[in-house]
Amino acid sequence: MFYHVKELQFNARVSKPDPKFASMLLEQFGGPNGELKAALQYFTQSFAAKQPHPDKYDMLMDIATEEFSHLEIVGATIQMLLDGVTGELKNVADKSEIMTLLDGKANKEAMIHEAMVNPQFLAVSGGGPQLRDSQGNPWTANYVNANGDLTVDLRSNMAAESRAKIVYEYLLNFTDDPYVRETLKFLMTREVAHFQMFEAALETIQPNFPPGVRQSDPRYSNTYFNMSSGAEARGPWNEGKSPMLGETWQYVEDPIKHVIDSNGMLDHKPTGTDRTMESAEEKTKEISKMRSEKIRAAIPKGENQWSKYPESRTAKQK
Ligand code: MN
Ligand code: MN
Repeated sequence: MFYHVKELQFNARVSKPDPKFASMLLEQFGGPNGELKAALQYFTQSFAAKQPHPDKYDMLMDIATEEFSHLEIVGATIQMLLDGVTGELKNVADKSEIMTLLDGKANKEAMIHEAMVNPQFLAVSGGGPQLRDSQGNPWTANYVNANGDLTVDLRSNMAAESRAKIVYEYLLNFTDDPYVRETLKFLMTREVAHFQMFEAALETIQPNFPPGVRQSDPRYSNTYFNMSSGAEARGPWNEGKSPMLGETWQYVEDPIKHVIDSNGMLDHKPTGTDRTMESAEEKTKEISKMRSEKIRAAIPKGENQWSKYPESRTAKQK
């Protein structure tokens, strides 16, 4: 269950209204790398994790809940940045009144002009945040990645945290407000913290590569296709050992010739690897057994109950 605490996780403040920046900040409210996406991604992932991995479920729910707390901070900040606008929109009786806002320099027209950067603030939301990005695109569940496998989901989350972090970094270039900057730096830093939590959690699942259960075909796992003419860039992605499987990269200089000579890769002989099709199949069976047994052992047959209610706490309430 959720329980709402009225105080924000971080003491969000603004020095003065700034409708333009409010509009940009919508990116972190209803945008593809924003706080709602993060919150709902970890929340959605947590269900598949609950019974086999109660520790990861706990972490996903804690971080999801923190992301909802960030969403609340971003929404509150957007609202404070729009404060002059909301007041003016309610001023339907006296159209001629000049508002004194923005340090007393700007009038109603200036404020409305600023807010026109995102007309929906005026025409749709009445001067409040909406689940849209800074361009007005509606939030969509397509932003949420949940694939029911922690070796995949935790990697999706590290990517999500990287993107959330860089968006805060870019946004910081567009406000001088020391209070807003303080809030954005807090939010940005939390994404750096989350990245490391997901990475540490992934490390506890071994083996975790390749993502999922099924092993990769050793005939194709270490070939690099030189798919262009001209100067060739070489680096650890196509020479030396591959970082995860430790196979030696095989550089295919002339992919057209190679594909034709190997009958469309069917006759391609694996080199630079100790793995064989048989050993890969064995490994797949082994991990398959390990993972499915873990899940089966954790999920009771027949009757099932999601939560346990501690005796002491219920007794106290009675
Ligand atoms: Mn966040
Ligand atoms: Mn985060």
